[in-house]
Amino acid sequence: MAVSEEKINSEIQRYEFKDVLGTGAFSEVRLARDKWSSSEHYVAIKCIKKRAIKAPGRASEKDKQEAQGREESLKNEIRVLKRLRHPNIVQLYDVLEDKDQYYLVMELVTGGELFDRIVEKGSYTEKDASKLIKQVLLACDYMHEQGVVHRDLKPENLLYYSADDDSKIMISDFGLSKIDDSTDSKMATACGTPGYVAPEVLSVTDGKAGYGRQVDCWAIGVIAYILLCGYPPFYDENDQELFAQIKEAKYEFDSPYWDEISESAKDFIRHLMERDPASRFTCQQALQHPWIASNTALDRDIF
Ligand code: ADP
Ligand code: MG
Repeated sequence: MAVSEEKINSEIQRYEFKDVLGTGAFSEVRLARDKWSSSEHYVAIKCIKKRAIKAPGRASEKDKQEAQGREESLKNEIRVLKRLRHPNIVQLYDVLEDKDQYYLVMELVTGGELFDRIVEKGSYTEKDASKLIKQVLLACDYMHEQGVVHRDLKPENLLYYSADDDSKIMISDFGLSKIDDSTDSKMATACGTPGYVAPEVLSVTDGKAGYGRQVDCWAIGVIAYILLCGYPPFYDENDQELFAQIKEAKYEFDSPYWDEISESAKDFIRHLMERDPASRFTCQQALQHPWIASNTALDRDIF
């Protein structure tokens, strides 16, 4: 690594670590105060253990070269991510490191996760869901234009900006799924629910296909589905069965849960949860659908 140990340490010492905001398999998100800022400025720092993503010391020369290649492309990616600015994307301020960990310094959001608030709110309409999905689509469209794919869109990564009732929603972890490899291993193992993964990701005929921007559009379709009925479109105790369902895009708008939902909402979801990535709606197309752009989202309570 070109950066000296001294520089690294001084940079991370800029932050005073406080409470834990969330934890993952190889990472932890901490609240931190920026000591260099004259005002009280707080950030969220995602700490990722290096041993989770780096080749071990005894790896072969070839493995080490590959690891170095990955690190190079990671650095390029970070440069792109740091330039991104969008009102519905949690900003990545900086990426620091020390011997054991990477530190992703991010904009702090304080409104909590999407589902927690919906459960608390009690009443909820198609119109509310449409407004939420529109913000996610706008953010996602912007990212895709910049050549970045999220790859891990799910409700846990949708955070409210503030505690206000009319707070905007923010996508977190944007483009970071390549940096934080734990998201990939999660998919491969049985622990995490792979319910948001697009069909083409599970078909290994073309290794690169699964990383296209269309996977995000599929995931937004799945999120919209859950927002409208309260349960996921694919479910099975057995992962193989679950994968089979997803590969065939086998889902239904079950009665009675979907009886009161508009035909427009179902049409919108069908276009995003379209098995063939080439025919699937892009973010642009989804933004123009009447359920988002016109007045077809209903105003009556769903739950
Ligand atoms: P992972 O995807 O590895 O589980 P996340 O990056 O999604 O980790 O973060 C886990 C949790 O930490 C989130 O669900 C959220 O509650 C909290 N969190 C993440 N980013 C922020 C942020 N920028 N501001 C406030 N809390 C955050
Ligand atoms: Mg996350």
